Amino acid sequence: MNGRVQIAGAGIAGLTTALFLARAGWEVEIRERAQRLEPVGAGLQLSPNATRLLDRLDLLFALQTASVAPEAIELRDARSLKPLAAVALGDFAAKRWGAPYLVIHRGDLQQKLLAAAVQESKISICFGTEIDPATQADLVIGADGVWSSTRAGLPGASRARFSGHVAWRALVEANDDAFADLAAHLSPTSVTALLAPSFHLVAYPIRQGKALNLVAIIPGTAGSQDWSQSVADVVPLPNHRAHTLHDLLAEVRGWTRWPVHDVDPAGNWGDASGFLVGDAAHAMTPYAAQGAAMAIEDGAALAAVLRASPDIPAALARYEAVRRPRLARVAGRARFNRFTWHAAGPVALARNLVLKTRSPERLSADFDWLYGFDAAAL
Ligand SMILES: Cc1cc2nc3c(=O)[nH]c(=O)nc-3n(C[C@H](O)[C@H](O)[C@H](O)COP(=O)(O)OP(=O)(O)OC[C@H]3O[C@@H](n4cnc5c(N)ncnc54)[C@H](O)[C@@H]3O)c2cc1C
Repeated sequence: MNGRVQIAGAGIAGLTTALFLARAGWEVEIRERAQRLEPVGAGLQLSPNATRLLDRLDLLFALQTASVAPEAIELRDARSLKPLAAVALGDFAAKRWGAPYLVIHRGDLQQKLLAAAVQESKISICFGTEIDPATQADLVIGADGVWSSTRAGLPGASRARFSGHVAWRALVEANDDAFADLAAHLSPTSVTALLAPSFHLVAYPIRQGKALNLVAIIPGTAGSQDWSQSVADVVPLPNHRAHTLHDLLAEVRGWTRWPVHDVDPAGNWGDASGFLVGDAAHAMTPYAAQGAAMAIEDGAALAAVLRASPDIPAALARYEAVRRPRLARVAGRARFNRFTWHAAGPVALARNLVLKTRSPERLSADFDWLYGFDAAAL
């Protein structure tokens, strides 16, 4: 099947869906509310389940020039900074899961996707506009993010809900004073996840190692009542000079506060007159670092079902049959990570023991179902 599709939103979901559908022969019109794409957001981890699909869009080379392939994911105790476990990435990830693990700035990823969409003769993009209610398109897609207005009109659709946690994000450039101190204490060539009761911090290099991306997740409120300037004011770690991580975070300037919301993936995703993908359908908490990866998988899967069936309702039913169990499982992993990463007392001790005694092979094998997945294989 191919025809005409209108897509609301030029985020990661909208652009990748547009590219996959255009390659499958569809005429695509993207309607983006913003006047232009600003480099908003921060770093993203792109696991092999996402990069294998971006490779099929011939984007891997362009992405590799703007990203870093980290050597490992290191889990550490946030209070002692001592290692708990490491999952090998780098060449090992590319071999085991068939595609690289990359870390990149969201704005850089979006610009690469936009550049590819602009080159594609079957895609047109209109900025400063929304879905045309009088559209004659065969399929209308809502890729309009966690606050989706396409979703707002859908009976039985999920709503965005606050997770109770706030993501504090900062980018530390190589010429910032804090960069050298952070690089000396964390692994500047890996993804480091530092775990403590009710708190975790993820740090990794982006922009070819010229900046460090920091994300700290802490309980908080959805509103803007919290006027703290720095995560060091609110981080639940001991506040004294001897405490390395607290001092390191206090050095960092330019934190942005981001209340974390999710959207239950079990809600109604709509039909051909308005069908949800990406965060609009299933925004995820960031504990498994899979929100953008799921948006990319959605685009590939949607194009695959529409290639396989000329009947749009049947293709959308097939899409839901393959995507719902996958999304439920990934959202479950995010919940599990939140529980174990933020654990205290005996649960934290048990976690540390399991991590310490598990072989590197077992640690990697635990990700096979997630990173080895091919969303376009039906
Ligand atoms: C702290 C944090 C860390 C994260 N880390 C990771 C990570 O490491 N790895 C990962 O895979 N994911 C991560 N994510 C998730 C990831 O950022 C999102 O899942 C992903 O960006 C969602 O893409 P999207 O295109 O669905 O939505 P968005 O990126 O929100 O794009 C929606 C677009 O639609 C436009 N729009 C909105 N309304 C309308 C309308 N009515 N009409 C037209 N256009 C409209 C918006 O302007 C925007 O351009 C993280 C998220 C958070 C909060």
